[in-house]
Amino acid sequence: MGTTIEMKNPIAELDGDEMCRVLWALVKEQLIIPSVNLKTEYYDLGIENRDATDDRVSAEAGAAIKRLGVGVKCATITSNAARRAEYNLKALHPSPNGTIRAILDGTVFRKPIILSGIRPTVSTWKKPIVIGRHAYGDVYKAAEMTVPGPGKVELVYTGTDGQEQRKTVAEMRGPGIIQGMHNLDESIVNFARSCFLYALEEKLPIWFAAKDTVSKIYDGRFKELFNQVYETEFKEQCREAGINYFYTLIDDAGARLVQSEGGMLWACKNYDGDVMSDIVASATGSVAMMTSVLVSPTGAVEYEAAHGTVQQHYYRWKRGEKPSTNSTAVILAWTGALAKRAELDNTPELGAFAGRLEGAVMETLEAGEMTGDLARIASPAPARPLDSWEFIEAVAKRLR
Ligand code: NAP
Ligand code: MG
Repeated sequence: MGTTIEMKNPIAELDGDEMCRVLWALVKEQLIIPSVNLKTEYYDLGIENRDATDDRVSAEAGAAIKRLGVGVKCATITSNAARRAEYNLKALHPSPNGTIRAILDGTVFRKPIILSGIRPTVSTWKKPIVIGRHAYGDVYKAAEMTVPGPGKVELVYTGTDGQEQRKTVAEMRGPGIIQGMHNLDESIVNFARSCFLYALEEKLPIWFAAKDTVSKIYDGRFKELFNQVYETEFKEQCREAGINYFYTLIDDAGARLVQSEGGMLWACKNYDGDVMSDIVASATGSVAMMTSVLVSPTGAVEYEAAHGTVQQHYYRWKRGEKPSTNSTAVILAWTGALAKRAELDNTPELGAFAGRLEGAVMETLEAGEMTGDLARIASPAPARPLDSWEFIEAVAKRLR
């Protein structure tokens, strides 16, 4: 085991709900605390505490990530009517992910974890494809309407100074549908910055794709701002790091991706990222085999398990069963945060520990010691799937 590794500065630790919370405690207890004198600022984002603090704790946690530079987050329940009744909540609170994203103004990067026994559906893919998804605006903040019959549709902008701009969208021949959407230069610039920072950190070539041949102003603006951020802020650093930036049309990017070996960051507009990250994730087999990090334009980062709280497994655990929930994403959220802390604090021992723990997880999985979600699709299939406790113990053994 050796001596305990010290930390210089704390990490913002955001605890969460249900089975993910159970795994969270186990991972800390069994895999981290035996080796590291863990320093965190702890925020309990479990639904009961969010309710008790009128959700102030979510905003405080977001501010702590910004201040400390590094955060790690467990999956949390997004409250709805059913959860309100289940937990006897005072109110329905917004999703903590939305609250934190608004504070950090970030881009979400999702990367599948590839195992040799689980073949990606696209046979040419050898390296993970990372999706960087812009998480503001477009169709997710659009205004829509149906119209009953013939008439004129216009876009109207009224500046705060009263200046007006108008454009005809369509002369409707009959009943139909209309949609208006927007984005902000500032948010697009932040998105581009986050993508370049991530690509530099991970040493990945970066692709950006849109449809500026058709959407000359809207997608054209995305292309222009992305390119401007590259030219004015990152060109030199990218050249030094040997990182290639490449813009192409979205249909061309899709075709190239399927024939590629992977191993790039694909920066996607909001909707494109929604679709592409699900395609890439499903090709890997399990939602627990995906790392997810939110990177803000100032460089503050939040590592998280991308899956949910695994509600049904939690109910089984409460009934006294031992569910087979995969803790890979939870462990890798912690190793990501510890490695980032080590880099910022210049504490190489901590960084080396994060690397060893990640290595132990990968060796365990590669040896066929895995939970049910993977055991179902692995070849060769393991003799039997491990439960959550056995899996973490198998990782701990390798770590020792
Ligand atoms: P979920 O927790 O992702 O689980 C859905 C199903 O996916 C599970 O029943 C399980 O399938 C499988 N699964 C997910 N994670 C797994 C893991 N680590 N190991 C093995 N299997 C895993 O989604 P949900 O049950 O729809 O949502 C539960 C709660 O999570 C909701 O309240 C939602 O608001 C919240 N949520 C939070 C976040 C976040 O904080 N980032 C994200 C999404 C959802 P089987 O049952 O087939 O084993
Ligand atoms: Mg989606």
